[in-house]
Amino acid sequence: MSSRAEQKRAAPLRFAVVGAGFSGAVVARELAEAGHQVEVFESRDHVAGNCHTRRHESGVMVHVYGPHIFHTQHERVWDYVRRFGTFKPYRHRVRAMVGEKAYQMPMNLGLINAFFGTNFTPQEAEAFVAGRADASITDPKSFEEQGLRLVGRELYEAFFAGYTRKQWGVDPKELPASILARLPLRFTEDDSYFNHPYQGIPEHGYTPIVEAMLDHPGITVRLSTRMPRARLAEFDHAFWSGPIDAYFNFEHGRLAYRTLDFEPEVVDGDYQGCPVVNYCDADVPFTRITEHKHFAPWERHDKSVIYREYSRLCGETDTPYYPVRLVQEKAQLVEYVRLARDQHGVTFLGRLGTYRYLDMDVTIHEALRVADVAKESVSAGRPIPAFVTDPLG
Ligand code: UDP
Repeated sequence: MSSRAEQKRAAPLRFAVVGAGFSGAVVARELAEAGHQVEVFESRDHVAGNCHTRRHESGVMVHVYGPHIFHTQHERVWDYVRRFGTFKPYRHRVRAMVGEKAYQMPMNLGLINAFFGTNFTPQEAEAFVAGRADASITDPKSFEEQGLRLVGRELYEAFFAGYTRKQWGVDPKELPASILARLPLRFTEDDSYFNHPYQGIPEHGYTPIVEAMLDHPGITVRLSTRMPRARLAEFDHAFWSGPIDAYFNFEHGRLAYRTLDFEPEVVDGDYQGCPVVNYCDADVPFTRITEHKHFAPWERHDKSVIYREYSRLCGETDTPYYPVRLVQEKAQLVEYVRLARDQHGVTFLGRLGTYRYLDMDVTIHEALRVADVAKESVSAGRPIPAFVTDPLG
């Protein structure tokens, strides 16, 4: 006969999950599969957060909140997402406009030779770029220092400085070096945008994947429903993947985000022959043009949907996309993390819940960890922690 405490531990719990993006969907699924009851609250009228996809009347699958390409080094994540739908093989390719000329992006042998009008071998190109790089910068702190150290002034100014100023709205001297570390530098003709071993795009878009995750008898999804913080106390525990500052009613001010505006256009045929073209010049007002049908090269469409993408500071009623995380925001974040750690019964996760620039795969990886820790905590009779990954780390 088991003790009462053990019976209580084994009994199904009632969990609230706020946000039906990948973070919320993964946690909900994992806990439902462990036998618990989960209610998911989503303020928008659709699931999948900013990964949401929708078929346009032209038949083209549109990434409603901008380009999302699935790439990961985590086998666990790759296996996990493919349980919920088919991912088609996809290699992301980007071009970058500087002046009137299009270059391969990320920086590779083709870009270097086209930009400098040379015909370098890989070794020559590497030696050439090393000669232009600023070797006096040994420990790059800012985006600018990282760029100058990596590729030198000419390439930095042409491809990174203007784009980055438009994207982030500040001087790249103020941005962390980590943002540039997202992009590879190669001395081969490889023009694949990502290095990860597993890459793909869901055959029918991301939304059906998230819907399939949430399709479980233990999960109830409430769309167009804001969950007031006070009501979370009705549950045994809550998982909050909304903005961390919103949870605390912005008592330490609003954490800054960049938001995006899209200017859609429907055109005949093929507009740019590639999914994304970056516009690196500072005097072009948009950052990039996305041509959605190229995210599904296995489909054929006569029409094409393009989005011109503009970045600006996120207002109170806008959709947050990119956490800014400069000095002021980091100080605010410290305050919010302190409040969160003093809470009981709430775990914060995801891009908005931990205020970090996370890719989809990292979000899923962390959400699986959150679910693991939650299950371990429940079976050990311990409280579930406020964070599983340190947002300040
Ligand atoms: N970036 C740039 N020029 C480019 C592409 C990227 O300067 O042509 C910089 C820019 O600061 C951007 C960062 O690299 O924010 C990361 O780029 P990524 O393509 O990963 O951004 P995302 O697709 O997440 O917006």
